[in-house]
Formats: sequence, C-alpha cells, structure tokens
Amino acid sequence: MRIVLLGPPGSGKGTQAQKLGRNLGLPHVGMGDMLRGALKNRTSLGERAKEFMDSGKLVPDSIILELLGERLEGTKEGFILDGFPRTLEQAKRLGALLEKERENLDAVINLKVREETILRRLPGRLVCSECGKVYQRANLSSSTQRCPSCGAPLLSRTDDVSDTLKKRIEIYLEHTHPLIDYYKKKGILQDVSGEGNPQEVFDRIVKILN
Ligand code: AMP
Repeated sequence: MRIVLLGPPGSGKGTQAQKLGRNLGLPHVGMGDMLRGALKNRTSLGERAKEFMDSGKLVPDSIILELLGERLEGTKEGFILDGFPRTLEQAKRLGALLEKERENLDAVINLKVREETILRRLPGRLVCSECGKVYQRANLSSSTQRCPSCGAPLLSRTDDVSDTLKKRIEIYLEHTHPLIDYYKKKGILQDVSGEGNPQEVFDRIVKILN
C-alpha cells in the first residue's frame, strides 16, 4: 500500500504514520524526520535546510526531492508518507515518480483538527532524540525527561515556538491545504478526525483503510 498522510502541523501525521508503518509492516517516510536527521548528522543537505526549517518556511524542492528520491528507492512494497507532498508541485512530482514505476497512491488520509487543538498540542510536544516518538508533556509524569520507549532524552522541537508555529500554519493554509481538493478530485482522499488520543485516531484510520 502507498499512503500519504495530510494535515496541518500538530494534526498527528508523524505519530499516526509511525503506528501505521508498524501495523502494516511498511516503511514510514517522514520528510520532517529525514530533514532533522540530515541536520543532526551535519550533512550539507541538512545545513542547507536549517535556515528554512528554523523559520518555519518550506525547504526548497531541490533538497526535498533529493532526500525523497533516495528514500523511496527500495520501497517497492509500499510506504507511509508524512510531510510530503506539501505543495501542488510536490504532489505532481510524486505522481510522476509513481507513474514511471507504474504505481499509484492507494489513499490520502486527511487528518482534520481544530485550530485550538493545534495550539494546545504543539507547545507541549516532546520528541525523542533517538527513536523520534512524540509525546505530550501533560501525559508524562512531571519528572520524566527521557523517552518511555527507548530511554533517550526527550526534546522540544525548535520550530514549535510561537512565531515559527504561526508561520508554519500560514504556510500550511496557503500551500498544503489546496492538496485536499487535488486528491479529492482524484477520488483517493479520506477525511479522518484527528481529535482525541492517538489510539482513537489510529482506530479511525484503520477502519477506513479496511
Ligand atoms: P514536519 O516535521 O513535517 O513538521 O516538518 C518540519 C519542517 O521541515 C517544515 O516546517 C519545513 O520547514 C520542512 N519540511 C518538511 N517537509 C517538507 C516538504 N515536503 N517541503 C518543504 N519543506 C518541508
């Protein structure tokens, strides 16, 4: 299966993509995770992406497509994509890439969340520095600073601060939201409520895919 997760920042794309990947035995391809990985490993690609990510802007396609091309190689059996595509141009690129291989997307899951949910979730988000699992500060005991799953330190994302956050939401509305119509017209869009806890959202997605 080839699945794309769409949704604004804080809609739970990464969390759900990880869970789906584990559940379906498919690779989770998270564009934001790949960019943060490139940055952490101090690759030239990561260094070039840094200023865009820090200011909440979209990273140029030349960088994004290089990362994606490498990562999609060897995913013949399918993938769960999150954070890509984010623009119409990227969606067309993905379509062309798949068409070349005589493949297509099976579903685009559009996670719908209220703005107040986004504004509550993101400032309280903690991400594991090793395994990338995402937590809400409010759901962890106050003394926990390490990942309950792998024990590595938990960190806040540097782009989850208010100004950058506002920019990311603006960019989502301007560039990514139009993809909802694009995939609706292709007949593969599935709206899913992203409200509630991760397991509730996951159950909704699984129900729709079955
Ligand atoms: P995310 O982890 O999906 O919230 O992505 C974090 C940041 O990485 C975004 O705010 C962008 O700066 C950058 N980014 C991730 N995916 C893309 C993409 N498909 N195109 C351009 N920039 C991206």
